[in-house]
Amino acid sequence: LFITVDGIDGVGKSTQIASLSGLLTDRGHRCLLTRDPGTSEIGQRLRALLLESDLTMHRRTEAMLFMASRCEMVESTIRPALRDGVSVISDRFLLANVVYQSIGDGGAEMVDPELLWKLGRLANGGIQPDLTLLLDMPAAAALARIKGPRDRMESRGEGYLERVRQAFLEQLPQSSDATVVINADQPVESVTAEIESAIADYAAC
Ligand code: C5P
Repeated sequence: LFITVDGIDGVGKSTQIASLSGLLTDRGHRCLLTRDPGTSEIGQRLRALLLESDLTMHRRTEAMLFMASRCEMVESTIRPALRDGVSVISDRFLLANVVYQSIGDGGAEMVDPELLWKLGRLANGGIQPDLTLLLDMPAAAALARIKGPRDRMESRGEGYLERVRQAFLEQLPQSSDATVVINADQPVESVTAEIESAIADYAAC
């Protein structure tokens, strides 16, 4: 079972991923958590380059470094885990790459989402999530939850975040076998409950 969780910053992904992992473990799944970008040694280094450095780079360069990071994560971690019957929950995956790298942020050239999906399928080598959960809430509400920008990508404003949100909703249908939009603009326990019922059909496999 391969589940990915995505959404704009501030929607509570980390908290919900921890609950989901507990839920699957309780149901007898062996679970592995991954984070995109990140997870592998190369992925961690690319994550630092992409998110923690103040280097400016062309959007296509950025897109391909995210792709490279995920390719390494798939081959070093996800594919072997799935082969061993371990369930994988990934904090972001190709969907985020398509959304963030196709969104303009005031001047920078955008990359065509169609091209990003194609490139992404090449990078992922046939690995595709069984289920993608999109945690959705208005940008204003999500921003209110972020106490301050945690990295260079988060320092953009509400207008940008709302465009990212809409792009997530638009691109979601292409992201995996099954997709579910979760209303993240409610108390944490209610979001968890909504996720629990969304995965009920899948957790049995
Ligand atoms: O949620 P996470 O901590 O992984 O995201 C870090 C930052 O990277 C977020 O601010 C998100 O906006 C950005 N990001 C991106 N392109 C991706 C994945 C994440 O710009 N493909």
